[in-house]
This record gives sequence, structure tokens and C-alpha cells, in this order.
Amino acid sequence: MTGSKFDVTVVGGGPGGLAGAVFMAKKGLKVKVFEKKKVLGKPVRCGEFFVVKEDMMKLVPRVKCPEVFDIPSEAIDNKCRAVRVISPRGKSFEFPLRSYVLDRHVFESGLAEEARSYGAEVDVGTQAHYYPSKDGPLVGVSPEKAVHSELVIAADGYPSETAQTAGLPEKEYAGPYSIATNVEYLMSGLPCEQDVAEMYMDPRYSPGGYGWIIPKGNGKANVGIGVRTPYLQRDWQIRDLLSGFIEKNKVAAPKLVGGKRESMIADSLPVDGPLARTYTDRVMAVGDAAGMVMPTNGGGIQTALVTGRLAGEAAVQYCQDGTPLSNYEDSWREQIGVEMENSRMMRQASDRLMSHGLLFHLLLRMMGPRRIAEVVMCQIPSGMGPIFRLLS
Ligand SMILES: Cc1cc2nc3c(=O)[nH]c(=O)nc-3n(C[C@H](O)[C@H](O)[C@H](O)COP(=O)(O)OP(=O)(O)OC[C@H]3O[C@@H](n4cnc5c(N)ncnc54)[C@H](O)[C@@H]3O)c2cc1C
Repeated sequence: MTGSKFDVTVVGGGPGGLAGAVFMAKKGLKVKVFEKKKVLGKPVRCGEFFVVKEDMMKLVPRVKCPEVFDIPSEAIDNKCRAVRVISPRGKSFEFPLRSYVLDRHVFESGLAEEARSYGAEVDVGTQAHYYPSKDGPLVGVSPEKAVHSELVIAADGYPSETAQTAGLPEKEYAGPYSIATNVEYLMSGLPCEQDVAEMYMDPRYSPGGYGWIIPKGNGKANVGIGVRTPYLQRDWQIRDLLSGFIEKNKVAAPKLVGGKRESMIADSLPVDGPLARTYTDRVMAVGDAAGMVMPTNGGGIQTALVTGRLAGEAAVQYCQDGTPLSNYEDSWREQIGVEMENSRMMRQASDRLMSHGLLFHLLLRMMGPRRIAEVVMCQIPSGMGPIFRLLS
């Protein structure tokens, strides 16, 4: 388009931004991605759990770009056959769900290489800012060094400076129940099983969230907890809660005994569903920057890939014939909107029970593995819609 150096600048080289960049560059747009990390995907701030395409398509059957769920074999560290949910009283509920445990550094590096192969520029180690101007968007390290583009994709995670500068409702989103704080160790030398991913509902050590053991193969696992502030007592330190989970949860501790804590990360995650608005006339927000995390399980890689791709499609149409960016929001609402809304409603309903270990345990017992699987995978469990709606 006229006078711009780039058609689209993308702030953030995570799965969302890179999925968009690959699509747009392949369609011939001039694309620039800014990523502030020096190495793509590192440090890993993620459990790296990724439901395989066939099972994911049962979860989000309206998605029209299933190829974004294809993972190259070199980016797969491990494969799991099932998920096990452990109640606050230690009862296990297992259900089949095939997943990969990714190496996000390899995965994101691969996406960046693909985008580059179609002509995109991917600048790593560059923290960029969005400067709206009357001549169109400017993005760069400073206004003087910024580049012009027709459109901007905010893919800079949560909270998103880019989305906020664009006037999207980031601040309005940030309630205490809406944000989870996650802390995680990569552990090695573990005796735990390597083909089942586990979710621990334990209000003592993961208040307002859950704990996880996600095996990475060869005795390694991502071991973490997610918590939310309304459930925390004032003197609780999140790092101590994670140690408590590793050392004292009756079911988890024996599986983690003797394990070495290799590295620790912490990050926040939006868990209240998508922002009320995800686009302006020149900007689209994708992935975490747009609140695109499944509230009942905290998974956001796949929703970032889908929304990044859909923003890419909307950008191509905008550049071809001026189709407004509302097209992007219409697309994600059509393809994943129902599941995101179900998931948000069920998270809100379970909020009421999350601090009551016994009640939560009884709820899980009443539901059984099939319905628990439905909730984890963003479906309203059979026969329980009215109960969840009443509680939400
Ligand atoms: C501890 C933890 C465990 C998780 N486990 C899982 C899991 O097992 N499975 C799952 O599906 N999801 C998981 N998630 C969520 C998942 O990691 C995110 O939803 C997903 O990474 C979102 O992708 P994204 O591209 O939107 O954002 P991100 O992956 O956050 O990428 C945003 C990128 O933008 C960059 N950036 C930010 N600001 C700027 C700037 N100004 N300039 C340039 N670059 C910038 C960042 O460095 C980052 O690389 C987890 C999250 C956490 C915190």
C-alpha cells in the first residue's frame, strides 16, 4: 500500500505473531516482526503442553485452519496419551487425550525461519513500541527509528503495551480473578510417568488455579502452579507454594522426589476470555495480548496460533481490497468464540468452589472423568449446563 515500508508490523515473536507472519509473508505482504527476546522461545515460560491436531479439532471443530496445529517432529520433546486430574483429596480421574510436549524454542525458531523463507524480516532482540501517528502506524525502538506500516499486530503477550496504546480494553480486563500468576520449574531426574500429563486441584498449593506435572521425556518435566490473588493469603509466597506442592502434595511428591530443579520461570496469564474488543482500524490483538487463553485449562499456544493466523488473513484482505479489520473479530468469534465463552463461564462457576477443597473434591467425584474431560476441554459437561450457568 502507499508509501509504507511494510504492510504489517508484528510486535512479538511468540506463536501468535509468528503464525500471522508466516501466513502474510506467504501471501506476498511485506512483514516485519519485532521480538524482544535475544533467542526465540527462550527462556521458556510455558508448560509446553499441546493437544494433537486430531484431538484439538474435536475441541474446536469450527476452526478452518487446522494446519496451524501441525508440529514438526523436531519441535516435539515428548508425547502423552492421557490427562489425569487429581482432586483436592487425592482422587485421580484419567481421560484419554493425545498431546505433544513441545520444545518451544525449536518450534518458534522454525516458525520464524518459515516466515523469513517467504521474505518476512524477523528482528530478534529488539523491544519495539507502537507510536500511532496521523500518517499511519509507526513501530520501533523509538519514534525516530520506527518503521511505517499499514497495519500492526499486537502479539506481545499479556499485558500488551501495543494493545493498550491502540486503545483496546487491556486495563479494563485486569481484574484480580482475570489474571493467573504462574510459576514453574523445569525438573530433571524424575521418577514420574512420562506419558500422562497431570493437573492437581489443590487449594493449599495452587489457590485459584492448579498444579501441573507435564513430562518432557527422559525423566524431565515442567512442574508448576497457577494461582490467583483473591485466593492467596497475605503472607503466602508463590515460590513457597510451588515448593509445598513439590514436597507435600501427597500424590505429586512421590513422583517428584529426588528431582533436580533446573530452572525457574514466572509469568502472568489472562484467564477471563478474550478482550471485549480485539481490533481498531489499524491494529489487531492476537494470542495472550487479546486474552486468547482457554480459561479452564490455561492453554494459550493453540489459540495464539489460530488468532495469529486469522489476523494474518484479515491483514491480507485489508491490503487487497480494504476489508475492515472487524473481519478479524468476526472470524475468531465464528471459529473459537463458543469454546472461549463456555470456558470462561465454567471458570467463573468453579471460582465459587475453588477455595473449598472438600466441595471441589465432591464436585469432581460427581462429574467423573468424562465430564471433567469436557470441562478441561472447554465443553459444557453433559447435563450440567444449568448448574454451571447458575454458579457463573
Ligand atoms: C508458566 C506458564 C505455563 C504455560 N503452560 C502452557 C501449556 O502447557 N500449554 C499452553 O497451550 N499454554 C500454556 N501457557 C500459555 C502460553 O504460554 C501462552 O498462551 C502462549 O505463549 C501465547 O502466545 P503469544 O504468541 O500470544 O504470546 P507469547 O508467547 O507470550 O509471545 C509474546 C512475545 O512477545 C514478545 N514481546 C513482548 N513485548 C515486546 C515488545 N515490546 N517488543 C518485541 N517483543 C515483545 C515476548 O518476548 C514474547 O516472545 C503457559 C503460560 C505460562 C506463563
